[in-house]
Amino acid sequence: MKEWNSRVGRVAEPMKTDFLQRTFSEPAEGQVLIRVVSSAVCGSDLHIFKGRHPAVPLPVTIGHEFSGDIVAVGPGVDGLCEGDRVTLEPCIVCGTCEACRRGNYGYCENISFSYRKGDGAMADYVMAQAEHVFRLPDDLSYHAGALIEPLSVATHAVRRADVRLGETVLVIGAGAIGLLIAAVCRKSGASQVIIADHSDARLKLALELGATAAVNSGKEPLEDVLHRLTGGKGVDKSFECVGLEATFVQAISSIRQNGLATIVGIFENPKISIPADLFVSREIRVQGAQGYCWDFPVAIELSRELNLEKLVTHVFPLDDLQKALETCLDRSAGSVKVLLEP
Ligand SMILES: [Zn+2]
Ligand SMILES: [Zn+2]
Repeated sequence: MKEWNSRVGRVAEPMKTDFLQRTFSEPAEGQVLIRVVSSAVCGSDLHIFKGRHPAVPLPVTIGHEFSGDIVAVGPGVDGLCEGDRVTLEPCIVCGTCEACRRGNYGYCENISFSYRKGDGAMADYVMAQAEHVFRLPDDLSYHAGALIEPLSVATHAVRRADVRLGETVLVIGAGAIGLLIAAVCRKSGASQVIIADHSDARLKLALELGATAAVNSGKEPLEDVLHRLTGGKGVDKSFECVGLEATFVQAISSIRQNGLATIVGIFENPKISIPADLFVSREIRVQGAQGYCWDFPVAIELSRELNLEKLVTHVFPLDDLQKALETCLDRSAGSVKVLLEP
């Protein structure tokens, strides 16, 4: 019987990581064992690192954006082989609740995530259910493969917003999700994709990924730029990717009559004040978007056309997990996506 030894990175207490040692044996029925090659830090990992994630008590293993190679295949697995380059859709759903039976597994009443059950991907190996594993295109790098999960989040938001040919879009916030939303909007046929942020480096990256205009909203008023670029009408669709009152207000103030604002940011302080008259006077619409549902296959196709590697600003060996998370929190480091490699 073959065995695989793995370090599994964990947030032990706020601002402190450590590693568990785990030994995997041959995969059970329906499972595959994946050797991790690249594992990306997600914003949610940072909420956990700070000990401020409302749904995730410490200690907990982390990591859910990764790529790797299958090293062992359990009985009853079809369509996946040893040596396949893959990524994982990390949600675990029941398949039997009403939402699952309607196909809306993203709303599963019993939804969980593999990393919260001890199967974090800041590790040497991850055991996974084969039905959640996706093969990567041959020419896609492991770095890009580790970003399929956040690309799926962006894909989900853009599909929910139904961005169409010739539309104008505003994306507020050029973090990884905002950048990917801007890129996917452009692929969806939006003719103008305006992105706002306070970091010139991130705005430059946004333009390289497909945004058509970048606004440093810390230096010039966003309203003025939007007025100029949309002839005073406002944009068709906006995306809020920050999670603050000011940016929520921008998202609903910047859209035209009957426009649609999609809220993607996480609000650490959810009690905000907004100009509620806009809903009736301008017949605007507001919706949220979270996670993904049937979006991985679309994101994998899109990944062929996006230069995802441009998002990777730092790569650390897995042993430097603590340093990697600190780098993500250090604004002066200018990180967008930070990868760990075993
Ligand atoms: Zn993520
Ligand atoms: Zn369910």
